[in-house]
Amino acid sequence: MLKIYVDENKCTACGDCKNACPKGELIWSINKIAHASNLEYCHVCTICASKCPTGAILIDRNAPGDDRAERNNQPHEDDLIG
Ligand code: SF4
Ligand code: SF4
Repeated sequence: MLKIYVDENKCTACGDCKNACPKGELIWSINKIAHASNLEYCHVCTICASKCPTGAILIDRNAPGDDRAERNNQPHEDDLIG
């Protein structure tokens, strides 16, 4: 699942990510650092990351989702033969 991480040590809360994002009002909130939520609106254009002056944004298209759901989709080691 899609996740957007903001490095709290790099973010200056400048708001450029929110301003540049086509869905900025829906996705980005800027407090002490920027935070992305409502990612169902994100179309992974990566503009936010490219506009961030400090390189604080990391976009992961394949971040693990709910742990239990992930595990249930995987064969259990004991179930594997050979
Ligand atoms: S553009 Fe980068 S530094 Fe500025 S608020 Fe967004 S994440 Fe923080
Ligand atoms: S990838 Fe695009 S749509 Fe998604 S948060 Fe960044 S700028 Fe907004």
